[in-house]
Amino acid sequence: MKYPFLDLRADNEPYLDALEAAAVRVVRSGRYIGGEEVSSFEAELAAYVGADHCVGVSNGLDAIRLIFRAYIELGRLREGDEVITSSNNYIAGVLAVTDCGLRPVFVEPDPATFNLDPARIEAAVTERTRAIMPVDLYGRTSLLPEEFKQRFIVVEDVAQAIGARGAGQTGHAAAFSFYPTKNLGAIGDAGAVTTNDAEIAEAIRVLRNYGSLKQYDNIYQGLNCRLDPIQAAFLRVKLPLTDAENALRRKKAAIYDREICNQRVIKPQMPAEQTEHVWHQYVLRIPEGRRDEFRAFMSANGVGTGIHYPTPVHRQPCYSEFSSIELPIADRLCDEVVSLPISRATSIEAVSEISRIINQFS
Ligand SMILES: *Cc1c(COP(=O)(O)O)cnc(C)c1O
Repeated sequence: MKYPFLDLRADNEPYLDALEAAAVRVVRSGRYIGGEEVSSFEAELAAYVGADHCVGVSNGLDAIRLIFRAYIELGRLREGDEVITSSNNYIAGVLAVTDCGLRPVFVEPDPATFNLDPARIEAAVTERTRAIMPVDLYGRTSLLPEEFKQRFIVVEDVAQAIGARGAGQTGHAAAFSFYPTKNLGAIGDAGAVTTNDAEIAEAIRVLRNYGSLKQYDNIYQGLNCRLDPIQAAFLRVKLPLTDAENALRRKKAAIYDREICNQRVIKPQMPAEQTEHVWHQYVLRIPEGRRDEFRAFMSANGVGTGIHYPTPVHRQPCYSEFSSIELPIADRLCDEVVSLPISRATSIEAVSEISRIINQFS
């Protein structure tokens, strides 16, 4: 493939020497669980996000899972409480909800933003609704009215949106993933929670470490969901350059937006403010059942594409209990979306060339 969808080795090229130095530093430190690398990364991420607290954890799924567990342990959520979210997403958030004995309630996305449609939330509220989990899909900030934050616990899934304006600041707690493909990617699995709620932060700190506040004294039935110091050290190399990485993605999204011109293709709506989007993915819609044809055409012309995501969460085999729910907008988006190459390894020239190829699809 001349223009692969993703090439993580090439994406990390500018960081290789610094990453290797960070690995050596941890190997030689003798400190392989917790310690200074983890606490320094937590302080640096909290400052970057503008949050009071940050707790490093094992991955993005565990970040969301620990947030809900913390609310439950503190008695602020109870089993069976309902969490409003969307279905045209990666499955992680909903897995966290059901793992904690909570109930997902799916609301349709706004096709213009791909995010949970704020105008449809009220109709889904019942007497059991306690939380809303907006997912900043493809890197676009979910703009929920402030009013919801007064009435519900708002847990932001910002796995795709680090650096977007408001990501990590619009809810009560936010979950980050540093899965290698994310805008800030580790060299393996890693995640974090940020919050301004000291009690929640402390509960997560304890839950991630066997529920143990001090060794051999377990106040919760906890988990082992710690952030590895070697991943923290890698992330400390890349965090200071996240804004520059996001700026590059914005530049490429602007070129796609300017240069793609084909009536068979629906481009994503540009945000009102550039800062509201960090373009984890640049996602087209190919209507009329022609997505497979479009992808085959792109592939034949040397362009790799991706689908995020082909199956809505409520149609996954593991959630057959939700399969009869009608969510035509989520279904349609999952049938139409195609992601284009946009990471560092895809050059500005490649973006223009890919746009030109798209314009030839007939
Ligand atoms: C990647 C991702 C997650 C899960 O993160 P992991 O670190 O892979 O567990 C959760 N939610 C969204 C929206 C994601 O993109």
